[in-house]
Amino acid sequence: STLPEPRQFQFKILVTGDVGVGKTSIVKRYMDGGFSTDYRLTIGVDFSLKNIEWNESTNVNLQLWDIAGHERFGNMTAVYYRHASAAIIVFDPTRPHTFKSVSRWYEDLISKFSEDGIRWEIPVLLLANKCDLPYAKIDFEEVHEFCEEHGFVGWFPTSAKENINIDSAMMYLVEKILKNK
Ligand code: GDP
Ligand code: MG
Repeated sequence: STLPEPRQFQFKILVTGDVGVGKTSIVKRYMDGGFSTDYRLTIGVDFSLKNIEWNESTNVNLQLWDIAGHERFGNMTAVYYRHASAAIIVFDPTRPHTFKSVSRWYEDLISKFSEDGIRWEIPVLLLANKCDLPYAKIDFEEVHEFCEEHGFVGWFPTSAKENINIDSAMMYLVEKILKNK
């Protein structure tokens, strides 16, 4: 007997948040396990692909779209948002204003995902990156309440540098997307 072919999914995940919060580092860490301390401003929209054998009947092809420098300008092209399955908003707890910006990034997503007054829901995950830094103070209660209030699917403290929670966060999000299918 032959096993049925596994289902093949393609998910596009947007990675947004202020400049310098670690978006590119998170994508790099997740994709190829590396980390660099060079600060390099990426220009354009970078996307990376990763294939995941989720289980014996499901393959997931993940596309991570790094906002890549456009965060300075605030208005992303429609191409960036088109056909996205989920979004990640990143902030840097060592710079509290980047948490304040999360609402702005969220509003931006919502407005882009509203067409003709119909809002379609995609799971949005919040990451408090650079949790390896001793002065990365996170008010768990505040972040939790914020997520509940805005309908985020959840949040994780992460470190792209020390490889903390990067895989778990991505797996969690993929699981949420699959549940919507
Ligand atoms: P982006 O502008 O959001 O893409 O941020 P980058 O990925 O370019 O990172 C900005 C700076 O923060 C770089 O110097 C990174 O090395 C550093 N960085 C990124 N993630 C972490 C982290 O988890 N911990 C620490 N300590 N530094 C990080
Ligand atoms: Mg970047």
